[in-house]
Amino acid sequence: MFEAEVIRQRIVEGERYLALIDEGLSGSWHDARRQALTSGDLVLALSLVHPEHWKDFRTAQQMLGPREFRTFNMAGTRWCAAADYWGIECSTRRRSDVAIVADHSWPYSLGGPTVVGNIRWLCRRHNAVKSADVHLFPWDGLWPDWLNSHLDTLGRFIPE
Ligand SMILES: [Zn+2]
Repeated sequence: MFEAEVIRQRIVEGERYLALIDEGLSGSWHDARRQALTSGDLVLALSLVHPEHWKDFRTAQQMLGPREFRTFNMAGTRWCAAADYWGIECSTRRRSDVAIVADHSWPYSLGGPTVVGNIRWLCRRHNAVKSADVHLFPWDGLWPDWLNSHLDTLGRFIPE
């Protein structure tokens, strides 16, 4: 179970992300990228992968890969990561008879690519309820390992 402060802080970060998307960047995309990398600002960095910034230059399919992960049922070898999002252990954890599916940790619809580093394993029930909600994203966790290379790719298509 998370401390209330962790949940409150995640919601604050999620709201800051939504405000960045609504208001747009104050400078150029490339300036914002430099700022995000220099300061380690994950909220700003993830706002830069939002399709809003690159939909005119490439199709979503080319930027993100297919929507579905090519995985098979991982029951018995992976466990539902519900606790990472909501702080509460999934009731299916350690049950090898429950289907486990690959979910885009950073949502596909918000620019999260279909790459191994963006997988979070969830049971079907938690996969369905997570959707693309950013409020309880683990903003306090590690910088995603796919993010820098994805920003490099996008940067090649977005004019300076
Ligand atoms: Zn679950």
